[in-house]
Amino acid sequence: MTAERTLSIIKPDATRRHLTGAINALLEKAGLRIIAQKRLRLSRQQAEDFYAVHKDRPFYQDLVAFMTSGPVVVQVLEAADAVALNRRIMGATNPAEADEGTIRKTFAESIEANSVHGSDSPENAGQEIAFFFSDDEIDG
Ligand code: GDP
Repeated sequence: MTAERTLSIIKPDATRRHLTGAINALLEKAGLRIIAQKRLRLSRQQAEDFYAVHKDRPFYQDLVAFMTSGPVVVQVLEAADAVALNRRIMGATNPAEADEGTIRKTFAESIEANSVHGSDSPENAGQEIAFFFSDDEIDG
């Protein structure tokens, strides 16, 4: 099966609690290869653009404020079926509804501060990877 790529973000609630290594260990244990990774602080404009699909939702401004409240780690993950596999390992958006052993069940603080982002379709994965990475930053 051909490898697929997805975009992952370790969110500010997780970097603040020094959980980057613990989350990466769960990703790698699940068979997701971390083929690109960088830590950065999102600008307000970047956060607004990245979450533009949610701009009419009531939580949009809070989400932008949260995502710019501290550093994030953006990463490209690769595996067969990487998008679905990562979504499974992440768990439900609301950690109260996430399965045992998932990243969000284990680490998330709330429905907003839920530790990780993962692309929700291969199409969006392509766009989200290009949002943060140029081709020469990704070494498959
Ligand atoms: P995801 O694909 O599981 O990350 O979920 P969504 O695409 O629906 O939402 C994007 C992000 O917005 C989530 O990961 C949360 O950080 C945040 N979010 C989603 N729903 C809510 C909500 O009801 N309230 C708040 N405050 N934040 C939310």
